[in-house]
Amino acid sequence: MSAQRRIVILGSTGSIGESTLDVVARHPERYRVHALSAHQQMDKLAQQAAVHAAAVVVVPDDAARVRFTDAWGAGALPDIRVGAQALADTAADSDSDTVMAAIVGAAGLPAALAAARAGKRVLLANKEALVAAGGLFMQAVRESGAELLPIDSEHNAIFQCLPHGGQAGAPTAPARGVRRLILTASGGPFRNRDPHSLENVTPDQACAHPNWSMGRKISVDSATMLNKGLEVIEAHWLFAMPADRIDVLIHPQSTVHSLVEYEDGSVLAQLGQPDMRTPIAYGLGFPDRIESGVGVLDLARSGRLDFEQPDLDRFPCLASAYAALRAGQGACIVLNAANEVAVDAFLNGRLGFMAIARVIDAALEWHAGQRSVTLSSLEDILALDVQAREFAARHRLAKAA
Ligand code: NDP
Repeated sequence: MSAQRRIVILGSTGSIGESTLDVVARHPERYRVHALSAHQQMDKLAQQAAVHAAAVVVVPDDAARVRFTDAWGAGALPDIRVGAQALADTAADSDSDTVMAAIVGAAGLPAALAAARAGKRVLLANKEALVAAGGLFMQAVRESGAELLPIDSEHNAIFQCLPHGGQAGAPTAPARGVRRLILTASGGPFRNRDPHSLENVTPDQACAHPNWSMGRKISVDSATMLNKGLEVIEAHWLFAMPADRIDVLIHPQSTVHSLVEYEDGSVLAQLGQPDMRTPIAYGLGFPDRIESGVGVLDLARSGRLDFEQPDLDRFPCLASAYAALRAGQGACIVLNAANEVAVDAFLNGRLGFMAIARVIDAALEWHAGQRSVTLSSLEDILALDVQAREFAARHRLAKAA
């Protein structure tokens, strides 16, 4: 076995962050936690840093630093770094070799990109980073020689089903012999609900995912199926695959995590329990397979595997994501930013569930009417992201009344 890997977990207090720490703790001889980061949950961060003996923690501001210090028990404090630049610098830190990018939303982009530019092994859960900046991100991977391993279960499944297990880099063309990628989707909690009955669903209902336990933002994205749309865009960048060769199939059991169709008619799938520790362990151990804590898949007990086409009337966000991918990078940035604004408003009781799709479509329409701008740098991308958020917030306020 190679030397012990030193891990940075961006967003350690979240669902993916916690699962990553769970897998890491099972293999103390293989992994050591170098740095952890959090946004609001300083008590949890302090507890994690103590248990896993993190050398570094990154917090957003001085008030969070005070809260972290107050929450810390006895013993020497870790090195506490503050702010967004410190987060990006820590992701690129030469004291680590592996970075789990598990911050939610485009807020995670600068640090994930910094890790890619520094040539790390990047375990990418933060799909919004690729949606907003796929071209720039993949170019950084190519130039630095970073190892990019998809953690999103669908993309991890596809990666596993590609020829020879896939290459952990940035392809410039679809893998040889591959005809189509098929992303599976559970359909979320509202798969069988009449769309007209969804106007008044609550955040807790939207977050009650039938199979997966996840953070609240991605849970709402799963309920609208914008999550699957973001994943189509993510797959486009990760596997250099055009939009018309990426399909979505509803699979309510979440047992088949995705499929790859080959020219000869073969279809390869990856199956497993709906537990993110499997793709996380795959990314951490690659190319080895390591124990993840996930139980065996008992197919006889699960009984049946169903598949159906998604209903785009019920899930308009999925169609919007395909449209954004075809329209180009700017539209993808706008799609993601508007969704983040709308989902946040929904989770805080300021917007109805079905209005999420309307905010996204209004923002895409607004963007289509704008003069096109160059999007070759992180600054260009973040500037459009800010503009799209402002538009979405104004539109929401105007229409929510
Ligand atoms: P959570 O909401 O559970 O966790 C998000 C993490 O990001 C927390 O550590 C949070 O800190 C931190 N964070 C939130 N906002 C900011 C910010 N502005 N700046 C810096 N850090 C921030 O999300 P998940 O773990 O569910 O998801 C993380 C990412 O992984 C998302 O992109 C999601 O789409 C993707 N993903 C998640 C899956 C899952 O099963 N959960 C499956 C596949 C992909 P704090 O909690 O301290 O506020």
